[in-house]
Amino acid sequence: MKIKSDWILPDLKAAQKRTKNAVPYINHFELEDYVRYIGKGKKYYISTFGCQANQRDSETLAGILDAMNFEPSEKPEQADVVLINTCAVRQNAEEKVLGEIGNLKRVYRENKDLVIGVCGCMAQEEKLVHTIIDKYPQVRLMFGTHNIQDLPNMLYKVIYQHERLIQVYSKEGEVYENLPVHRFGNDKAWVNIMYGCDKFCTYCIVPYTRGKERSRTMEEILKEVNELKKDGYKEITLLGQNVNAYGKDLATNYDFATLLAKVAETEIPRIRFMTSHPWDFSDAMIDVIAKYDNIMPFVHLPMQSGDSDVLKKMGRRYTAESYKTLFDKIQDRIPGVAISTDIIVGFPNETDEQFQHTLDMVNYCKFDNCFTFIYSPREGTPAAKMEDTVPSEVKSKRLAILNQTWNKYALEKNKQYEGKVVQVLVDGPSKKDPSTFTGYSPENKIINFTGENIKAGDFVDVYIERAKTFSMDGKALCYNKNK
Ligand code: SAM
Ligand code: SF4
Repeated sequence: MKIKSDWILPDLKAAQKRTKNAVPYINHFELEDYVRYIGKGKKYYISTFGCQANQRDSETLAGILDAMNFEPSEKPEQADVVLINTCAVRQNAEEKVLGEIGNLKRVYRENKDLVIGVCGCMAQEEKLVHTIIDKYPQVRLMFGTHNIQDLPNMLYKVIYQHERLIQVYSKEGEVYENLPVHRFGNDKAWVNIMYGCDKFCTYCIVPYTRGKERSRTMEEILKEVNELKKDGYKEITLLGQNVNAYGKDLATNYDFATLLAKVAETEIPRIRFMTSHPWDFSDAMIDVIAKYDNIMPFVHLPMQSGDSDVLKKMGRRYTAESYKTLFDKIQDRIPGVAISTDIIVGFPNETDEQFQHTLDMVNYCKFDNCFTFIYSPREGTPAAKMEDTVPSEVKSKRLAILNQTWNKYALEKNKQYEGKVVQVLVDGPSKKDPSTFTGYSPENKIINFTGENIKAGDFVDVYIERAKTFSMDGKALCYNKNK
């Protein structure tokens, strides 16, 4: 396939560059008349893969499309524009995306005016973009994580100039404020506090796909939280690849602990944050989480491995011992805290003994929840160049053993809630059994329960009758609607 001269293709080497240049802040977004009505009488459909950052980006994409007078559609078959917001963290995420693009071929065959766009982290990957260019002609638009705000112009070119357009920038990135947003939830909202990542863990593609660490100002964040509170939102999650690196790039002396306290003082009922890196986890942060009732007693603390040599090769900047010390401190100083983690098995050349150290840590920490992954080589990262002698059957076996181990503790932890009452923020009727309701406890536990006259957004006290590994069952006692 011929590469057109005006296409901008991703460049992982350029994406890796970090300078001390000031981050540009852009807070002006305006639609010109020639793009404002493109969507009149047309519909859009957005499919989102991957992490919360992607979900939040999809809310911005939807906000921009709404501003262009498009309407959302329930199915891709009814849409004029389909955007697939992608994830590149592991190979299987990419395979799912390619599967979805493949399925859309039939829809495109029946409607040649359909614009199928691929955006997000996968679009930042050189190899994948070439695969899509060559093998998926139904994809007419590709753009990355740095130019969401330019969607109106890109759509104009694709729709009216009948172009196939690829515009993927590989750069440190800016901070955009005031982009339109169409929130997908009425009670819970994501709030970006920073973008990008400078940690460069050796296995991870994120620093290449999302640019350098850049924080929003505290004023903008607090303004957004106060607006959400005014609009009746009950829970916010502060988002960043490393939320606790917040502020390091700003010319101020405030950090994540300062921000967290200020957000708590808005008195929005529930505050969560995702993800905190063990290396940046300060004592001040622990004190703030312990001090404010509206900061939920839940910490996601990715461990990745329980072996110090593997952690060093991963570039994680902490040892197994220092992780343990931090874990103990969090558990001792935040009453009732629940702690979850991420673990990778089968990092290049991980030995049986090193894997055993990971199991030892799981046996020590007894996590409330674990997200476990088999290492997936990502082209362009240092780990992908490491020779790997561990057969894939061994990796799968390790994953199964790890899952069995943490599942046992998750059930044990949940059992401690039996006979107790927890406050649940209701998501709505359960998808599996619409005669029951579902929601989350402060500790981020999924609670399914029976009750009457309950709706999404209510706070309900639930008596826990039965604990399972991934959720708990109970019955509603009373309402606490305004808490
Ligand atoms: N910033 C967070 C941190 O430092 O822990 C994690 C963000 S990353 C998108 C989410 C999780 O994906 C990581 O914690 C890691 O366990 C997993 N992950 C990242 N790259 C991976 C890879 N190449 N193979 C397998 N799992 C990976
Ligand atoms: Fe990836 Fe490491 Fe950055 Fe987390 S801290 S996003 S794992 S590079």
